[in-house]
Amino acid sequence: MYVGHLGLALGARTADRRVPVAPFIVAAVAPDLLPWRAFHYLALAPVVVLGAAAVAAAVWRSRRATVTVALLAASHYVADFITAGVRVWAGHESAGLFLYDRPFADLVVETATIVGGWWLWQRGAATPERRRITLAVLAVLVVMQSGFSILVADRLIA
Ligand SMILES: [Zn+2]
Repeated sequence: MYVGHLGLALGARTADRRVPVAPFIVAAVAPDLLPWRAFHYLALAPVVVLGAAAVAAAVWRSRRATVTVALLAASHYVADFITAGVRVWAGHESAGLFLYDRPFADLVVETATIVGGWWLWQRGAATPERRRITLAVLAVLVVMQSGFSILVADRLIA
């Protein structure tokens, strides 16, 4: 999953609006920043999920935020399973639904994820100016996802 991870982060942030959105974004994309080529999901997934939960618990002292951040980090693997393939354990072939092989289907799924997360997130926008900002964020995310989908369709990235 590409930009859909950010949609999941926006939606997850509504679990505790006292917590800024940035940590949810980090939890949602952190698994992509790790050296997956050298490892596999089963080895690093617990580290990512428990690490995210430990940081959240220490910083916010909010059970809701802690659980949500852990679930958000775990959701990364489910999302990647749906849109791409994941190497579950070393020496194993990638498993998944491989939506990247059908870029339009990937675009639809990821855009729906973005819009759903954005819709939850934007309900907290109290002023017209904040609502305009949330609309701009939605537009940027959808344009970014469209760009990724075009690159996938042209087989420039996978
Ligand atoms: Zn990923």
